[in-house]
Order: sequence, then structure tokens, then C-alpha cells
Amino acid sequence: MDTAERALAYAGGRLDRAGPLRTDPSRMNALLAEPTTVVLPMWRDRCLVDGDGPVRLTADRASLVRSAAGETVFLGLDGDVAVFAVDLSALPERSAVEMAGAVRAVDVRALVGRLDPGEAAAQAYARGLLHWHRQQRFCGTCGAPAVAGGGGHLRTCTGGDCGRLLFPRIEPAIIVLVEAPGSPGRCLLARHAGAAEDAFSTLAGFVEVGESLEDAVRREMAEEAGVTVTDVTYQGSQAWPFPAGLMVGFRATATSDEVRVDGEELLEARWFTRAELRERVAGGRSLGRLDAIDHRLLEDWLAGDS
Ligand SMILES: [Zn+2]
Repeated sequence: MDTAERALAYAGGRLDRAGPLRTDPSRMNALLAEPTTVVLPMWRDRCLVDGDGPVRLTADRASLVRSAAGETVFLGLDGDVAVFAVDLSALPERSAVEMAGAVRAVDVRALVGRLDPGEAAAQAYARGLLHWHRQQRFCGTCGAPAVAGGGGHLRTCTGGDCGRLLFPRIEPAIIVLVEAPGSPGRCLLARHAGAAEDAFSTLAGFVEVGESLEDAVRREMAEEAGVTVTDVTYQGSQAWPFPAGLMVGFRATATSDEVRVDGEELLEARWFTRAELRERVAGGRSLGRLDAIDHRLLEDWLAGDS
């Protein structure tokens, strides 16, 4: 089974996004009036949690919160139950927490290991979509205000001569496990600027305009680590809406084991054998962020041959 077929945190949620329903405002309103409909309140990129995790509001509490909220967005259907998210960011934190019947506001990334994977995916989805609404209040072409539509999955410019449709932005980034040529197998990990003294992780970078994902892999590896790579192979992807990322994982092979870091983004890059990585794990170091695709890339590589 490859990386793409196994669930990663924040991806593969159980919601049916039910895209066709979004374009029918009367269906949206009818779903919001259903007593079983669930509303996930968010405050400035954070979940609102009580002792059991993120609160899920229904009925009167959901109506109350929606009356005070910014945007309300349709996330999808969980079986027969409609799930929406509402943005309480305009309120002071304490007011948002109290109104939602919660006890505090928390970043979903601080909860992910304790959440049901579907819940983590829904919270991340809600966070990314509501973040976009707050950042896209005006049209970038004419400067007129933009208003939400499509169940919260687009905004429309209100400028009379413009009327441009604005869609949520997603920013793709590549993340790469680079292998050395020959054997024994070695992979390239780097210490990033700002990281702890002995914190090594895979190499990554944003995709630029006019590049394919594979182009971005080759450029980033050359720029950051002075490594020329071939055999660029897709491994899987992960939604990373913190605030708008999509992480696309690759494996690639270096043509030589010479490394030359840029000294700005990367302070040091080294080749590690599987035995060395296992030793680091045994010594208590984690393989990347446990909720992120780099952890999966490293686990998969460690499970390979010598
Ligand atoms: Zn406009």
C-alpha cells in the first residue's frame, strides 16, 4: 500500500462534500434549519473545545452562534447529517468561547493525536475555508467588497463592472525524501534555519508559478542542498490548511552524494542510513512531525530494503 492509500492526518475525512448542494441557497437554508444539523464554531483558526474535544453545536445553540457569526460555510454531509462551520473571529475570545459553550480555543494541530481522524479532517477543513474568507474580503481586481456564495466555497465581487468569482486559494508545496545513489541506502535530511541543534528533517519548498511539481522538486533540491535528483516519484499528498497548504510528497534519487547547503534555509544536510535513523528513534527523537507527511515518507523509507 502506498502513502496515498493510507490516511494521513487532516485528509481523507468521512464527509461527503456534496458539491451540487452548495449552489442551491434554498437547500442550504433548509439544511441549516434541520434540528440535527451540526455546526462547528471556529475562532481565528482555532477549534472551540470543551472537556471532550471540539464542540459540535446543534439546534438552538447552533442558531444562537450563527446569529453572531461571520461566515457560515457548508462542509458537507456526514451520513444524513449536514455539517457547517461558523466563524466567531469577530468576537473577543472569551465571548466566542462562552457563546459556543466551550472552555477554550485550541489549534487543531495541538489535538490531532487525540481526535478521531474524521474529526481532525473536518476541523482542519473548516479552519482553512474560514481563514480564506477572512483574507478575501475584497476583490483583488477592482477592490470592491466580495460576498460569500456557493455554500461558502466561493466569493463574488460586488463591483458592478467586475463581478469576478473568487475561489479558495491552495498553495502547493513539495516535500522530498532524497536517496543517495548506490548502497547502503542513505537518505538526505537537513537542519533548517531556526531548528534545534540536532533536529533533522526532509527537504521541502513551495511550488513556483510555471512549474510542475517535479520541476519544483528538482529546483528546490538543487537550490537548498546543491543536489541534482532524478527518478522523482510521487508518494502521496496531505491537506495542510495551516493556512492554505497542500503538501505533495516525493521520493527522488541524487546523482551524487555531494551536498552543498545554501546556509540560509538549510544550515546543514547529511546522509543517514536506516540504522542511523533507527538509532535516533530509539534515542527518543521523532521522525518529523508525527501528524505530517514527512513522518510517513521516513517511515516508508525505513521499512524498505537495506
Ligand atoms: Zn472586482
